[in-house]
Amino acid sequence: MSIRVLPPQLANQIAAGEVVERPASVVKELVENSLDAGATRVDIEIEKGGAKLIKIQDNGSGIAKDELALALSRHATSKLTTIDDLEAILSFGFRGEALASISSVARLTLTSKTAAQNEAWLAYAEGSEMAVKVMPAAHPQGTTIEVADLFFNTPARRRFLKSDKTEFTHIDEWLKRIAVARPEIHLTLKNNGKQMRNYRPAVTESQYLQRLTQVCGRAFAEKAVRVNCEHEGLKLSGYLQSPMQQELVDAHYFYVNGRHVRDRLVTHAVKQAFAGLTEVEQPGYILMLEVDPHQVDVNVHPAKHEVRFHEARFVHDFVLQGLSSALEQCWSLSPTADTP
Ligand code: ADP
Ligand code: MG
Repeated sequence: MSIRVLPPQLANQIAAGEVVERPASVVKELVENSLDAGATRVDIEIEKGGAKLIKIQDNGSGIAKDELALALSRHATSKLTTIDDLEAILSFGFRGEALASISSVARLTLTSKTAAQNEAWLAYAEGSEMAVKVMPAAHPQGTTIEVADLFFNTPARRRFLKSDKTEFTHIDEWLKRIAVARPEIHLTLKNNGKQMRNYRPAVTESQYLQRLTQVCGRAFAEKAVRVNCEHEGLKLSGYLQSPMQQELVDAHYFYVNGRHVRDRLVTHAVKQAFAGLTEVEQPGYILMLEVDPHQVDVNVHPAKHEVRFHEARFVHDFVLQGLSSALEQCWSLSPTADTP
């Protein structure tokens, strides 16, 4: 067979394999876009586990009429222009791939209004059809994206979808990660017309603890140990499960510059910090690490689930130190604790 350049839509569908694993990954990409656009409120509606419909409305900056079609094309992004920008990236997005990938495997409608425009516009793209149709619409400032019939044209992927309930649980889990990290954002989630989550904006610490109660349960939120430390440009804040509390909690969240990541570094540091203090296998934690963006590479994984620290050892030791001193303090303040 001779070598040929793939038609753009086929290239998008192949790329979609990396970015769009399941409905939850669509929700993740779209909500991240809303947050990048400065939204303070994001409303999510799901039907049939997201296989039938994922609808996300935000009150962010909106997309200008003449950029609607561009937003749907591959490698089109407003978030980066040079490779140096990538070195210091703080937005969630930068690859310009999500909308192109999603629209290649679903029926996508984008409705948007910017502050500068008097009217809203709608762009529609469907599966293998590359031509984007733009027409007038009604919409307040911000953007609504509807993704219908996910994987309708890629049956092999559609078959991999699990039950509606399982797919919804993935979406819900993913939303929790955002809810923990972005307390100032009002987030709502509906499933088949029923309101499932309403995370109201949390400004004060007690409101934040309420949000943590919603996400991680009362047991964790009520007794959580506060973490807060800073050293040579690194900053760590958040909460740890109290060592006095022996039940399992479902709260394992780690963020680097606001991005949720999986990292062995933090699971290891938590384990070490808790050594000898608890019987609990995996004590709960919510930890936000802030680090100079030049010190961390976020472009390691298409879905950006992982990062790479330039000085991993240094970061690990800083995190461990921060956790240990938080635990020590709570131990020494506790009236009932035995001296370890
Ligand atoms: P990326 O986020 O990597 O830039 P996407 O494909 O997710 O790529 O989005 C492409 C572009 O469309 C973004 O750079 C942004 O300019 C615009 N965009 C997408 N979603 C929104 C939104 N909800 N509000 C405003 N602009 C958006
Ligand atoms: Mg994006």
